[in-house]
Amino acid sequence: MARDLGPKCRLCRREGLKLFLKGERCLTEKCAVERRSYPPGEHGRGRIKQSQYLLQLREKQKARRYYGLLERQFRSTYERAARGLGAPGENLLRMLETRLDNVVYRLGFAGSRAQARQLVRHGHFQVNGRRVNIPSYGVRPNDVVSLKPGSPVEQLVRDATDLTAAVAPWLQADHDGLTGTVLKWPERDEIDAPVQESLIVELYSK
Ligand code: SF4
Repeated sequence: MARDLGPKCRLCRREGLKLFLKGERCLTEKCAVERRSYPPGEHGRGRIKQSQYLLQLREKQKARRYYGLLERQFRSTYERAARGLGAPGENLLRMLETRLDNVVYRLGFAGSRAQARQLVRHGHFQVNGRRVNIPSYGVRPNDVVSLKPGSPVEQLVRDATDLTAAVAPWLQADHDGLTGTVLKWPERDEIDAPVQESLIVELYSK
């Protein structure tokens, strides 16, 4: 499965904020955004001419990188969101937020979305007792996400839970039993993503 293998901290520096792509390191003073809070590259500290298109593009790139999707996956998610009922921007965020890899991360079972994605991909998680190894799998209210019994990554998952300060309000986590429940669909104000989705809608509506 294709994924972005480039330097992750560069992505945060490009967007000008912490996207928390590297797990524990993001919480330390080694974070590149803390140390060099300007865009990467030779012209990183130069002036950039702002335009509405640039704002929209940066917002889309930020969301895409935050959730760890490639352009094609992101665009097709948007197209499905736009076909649904309700506001396309909110639909998009809800679809991104309820991806299984994001839910594993939000429940605190992985230090980063990239790690969550790998754990799911390698078949370490179940949904309602059945193994699911598709990171983009969309969970629904009342679904129960759990670590596969006897999984060799149990200690790694337990270590990740130690780093988790809080779980999203639309989820309920049992860090002792390593299970989590989806309580409901997330509302926009319950989605902690640094994204102005209206700019993404404007970009893709051109
Ligand atoms: Fe981003 Fe984490 Fe790197 Fe900081 S340490 S720049 S938050 S990936």
